[in-house]
Order: sequence, then C-alpha cells, then structure tokens
Amino acid sequence: MKVIVLGAGITGVLAAYFLASRGHEVEVIERQQDSGLETTYANGGQLSYSHAEPWANPGVLPKVVKWMFRDDAPLVLRFQPDMRMIKWGLRFLANCTHKKAHESTINVLRFSLYSKKVLHEILADVPLDFKHSKAGILHLFSNNKDLDAAIKHAEFQKQYGCEETFMDWEACKKLEPALEHAGRPVVGGIFAGMDESGDALAFTQQLARYCTEKFGTRFHYGTNITTLQGDGEIITQVNTDKGVFKGDAYVMAMGSYSSVFLRQVGIDIPIYPMKGYSISFKANEYCPHVSLTDTDHKIVYSRLGDRLRIAGTAEFAGYNHAITEKRITPIVNAVKRLFPKASVDDDMVKWACLRPQTPDGPPTLGRTSLRNLYLNTGHGTLGWTLGPGSGKLVADIIENKTPEIELAGLTVTKYLRG
Ligand SMILES: Cc1cc2nc3c(=O)[nH]c(=O)nc-3n(C[C@H](O)[C@H](O)[C@H](O)COP(=O)(O)OP(=O)(O)OC[C@H]3O[C@@H](n4cnc5c(N)ncnc54)[C@H](O)[C@@H]3O)c2cc1C
Repeated sequence: MKVIVLGAGITGVLAAYFLASRGHEVEVIERQQDSGLETTYANGGQLSYSHAEPWANPGVLPKVVKWMFRDDAPLVLRFQPDMRMIKWGLRFLANCTHKKAHESTINVLRFSLYSKKVLHEILADVPLDFKHSKAGILHLFSNNKDLDAAIKHAEFQKQYGCEETFMDWEACKKLEPALEHAGRPVVGGIFAGMDESGDALAFTQQLARYCTEKFGTRFHYGTNITTLQGDGEIITQVNTDKGVFKGDAYVMAMGSYSSVFLRQVGIDIPIYPMKGYSISFKANEYCPHVSLTDTDHKIVYSRLGDRLRIAGTAEFAGYNHAITEKRITPIVNAVKRLFPKASVDDDMVKWACLRPQTPDGPPTLGRTSLRNLYLNTGHGTLGWTLGPGSGKLVADIIENKTPEIELAGLTVTKYLRG
C-alpha cells in the first residue's frame, strides 16, 4: 500500500515508521526543511505516562476565571472574535466535570502505559540517541490542599497500573539535591518513578533518517500542503506547492493545522492551537537532574544532557507563533525562585509553539468518514508521551488489525456523540 503522511512532527514520523517497517511505501510531506521543527521542536521533554489528568477538569474552572486575562498566569486567553475558539471553549467547559475528567484520565492512562511499552519496543530495534532518562518525574506542590488532592488522584490512578509515591519535602530534596537551594516553600511531592524524559526533536529527526535509510521512506521537506481534495468518499489527492501527491491511504498529522485542512474535506474536528513556551539554557551544578513538574506554575523541567529545558503555560491566541516576552518572564521568574543559583541566563534560547489541543484532552486517532483518510492528531500537551503508541495504533487501524488497546475516547466518534 502507498501511504501519504501529512506532516513530519513526532506523530507523523512515528506513523511513517510503523507503516514503513511493515513494508508499505511511505511518503511524508512537510513544509519545514526537516522533521520536528514545529510543535515537537523544544517541548518539555517529559514522557509523563502518569500525568493523564486533562486540563479540562473541575479543579481548573475556578482557576481559569482567575488566570484568564493575567499575563503571568499559567493559562491566558487573548480574546478574538473567532467562532472556532468560542465553540472550542464551550466544549472545554462542558468537559470540566468529574465524570468527563475521570473518563479522559482512564482513557489517557491506558494509552500512555501502552505508549511506554511501544517506545521501548522501538528502542530495542532502532539505535536512537535522545538524552533518554528513566529517572522518573517529581511533581512539586507548595500548598497542602493541592498536594492532598494529588495524593487522592494518585490513589485513583493506582488501580489502572500507575505507580506514584508521596514524598515529603526532605525526601524530595534527597531525590533531587538541587532542591536544597529552593528559594520558595514546597510542602512535598508526588514521585512518578515510571515516568521518563528525553529530547523529542532528536528522537524524531533520527527516526525519520532511519526510515529513509532502512525502508526508503521519502520525506518531501520544504513542501507546503495547500489543499486536500476528496470526492465525498475518499481523498483523491493532496495539492502542494511542489505538485500533486496521491496514495492509497493518507494520515493526517499536521498538528494544530489538522483541523483547518480537514474542514476542506468536510471533517470538523475540534482541535484548536494552545500556545506554549519553553526556555533552554546551559545547566550549572545548581540545576536539577530529575525531571520536575512545578504544579503551581504548570511548568515542567527536563535535563537534556548539559542543558535544562523548562516548558509550559497555555495561551489561546489563535494561530500565532510569536514569542511574547510577557509570557517568557513568568517562566524565568519561576525558575529563579525555585533554583536561585541556576544559570538561567547562560545561552538561553526562548521558544513558542502551538499544541494541537482537543477540548476533552485525548488525541483523535484512526478512521474518518472518508475511507482512505486516517487521523493521528490532537495530542495537545502529550504528543511526545503518546506519540509512539499512537503511531502503532494508527498503523494497525490502516492494516485492519485489531489494535492492542481499546480505543474508547480516542477516536472521532467521541465528537459525533457531541
Ligand atoms: C511548550 C510545550 C511543551 C510541551 N511539553 C511536552 C512534554 O513535556 N511532553 C509531551 O508529551 N508533550 C509535550 N508537548 C506537546 C507535544 O510537543 C505535541 O503534542 C507534539 O509535538 C505534537 O506533535 P505533532 O506531530 O502533532 O505536531 P507538530 O510537531 O507540529 O507536527 C506537525 C507538522 O505538520 C507540518 N505542517 C503543518 N501545516 C503544513 C502544511 N500546510 N504543509 C506541510 N506541512 C505542514 C508542520 O510543519 C509540522 O512539522 C509540549 C508542547 C509545547 C508547545
């Protein structure tokens, strides 16, 4: 079968890998000059299998109201008269119930544990050097109310195979000695020992090269997709600025732009860009080695070799990639408060990009109303974590194989239900 993959971010490259390794002819179309140069580029680096709770949860509602228009808040809304943003927002609010948040958490947990297994299967076959750390992720809390809620949530997740342990402040510092110098109070943490971290860009680009060398996968870089063309039953061709592409099957993996192009062929999926930021700098001896999540500021830390990456925040501002200094400053300040002696200004690189976010949280995979079009998109805050499992599931669906996990909450049918 000839498969055309649209987009060479982490999700497109992983789908390409699984399809090519099973003998399919795969071509990948990407507007950038290499793979992984958009949302995958400088993400938080966390393989946070245990962090399955969606942004849409009852706890976030009162905070959203407080945060929404404050520049230094973890979540900011830059209001624009955009009906898609308004509709997306209403769907997000509708998902902020205990029932929906529990459903999404269970669906994502099942998926993320599977994705971990799949990542390790890939690594057993393909030599990839991406600063992979298996040292776990420590979630830090500055007040007992949030910590108690997290302990309860960890108990809930335990029944689904997710192992997390409570750590008091002394135990946190023992695990990550750089916290000894913390410049603000922390009451304790939840440690997810099963979690990992690594450089998503290095992983994606090396895997893309491996696909070309080992399976002859063709990556058409610098090729801008202009329109998808269909006849109401199938995709007939993909038009680009470098000509027309045709295949037996097509995989949509264009990140935040997926929904824009899907609408051209009559498929309306609520994926909206949720902008995030990161900073990276050369780490000194006062920087952490263990991956951390600062739950107050909703930012994550990952050690990638000799550099430290800190990422997070959510901003709804449409398809706007600009790096806004007002959104970088709160990240820098949060780092300076937690690690006052960290070398934040040493060769700091700032970055922003758009997460392809669904209102419920989990991505959308698999079949569509067009027989030869498959989705691998909407991974939001968890594309690195879920990408491996997602690539394998989509390949299975295209080959009509029974997926290795149940797909409840992960397919387009969830939106048909409303
Ligand atoms: C600040 C931040 C921190 C994050 N931290 C984490 C983390 O710690 N852990 C985690 O699991 N996830 C994290 N994520 C989420 C993760 O990075 C994303 O979910 C993931 O990168 C999405 O991958 P993708 O392949 O869907 O999108 P992308 O990487 O954006 O890939 C889509 C590709 O499609 C291409 N494309 C788009 N339009 C066209 C066109 N017209 N023609 C041709 N090509 C086109 C783009 O160029 C792009 O390369 C973070 C995201 C952000 C922004």
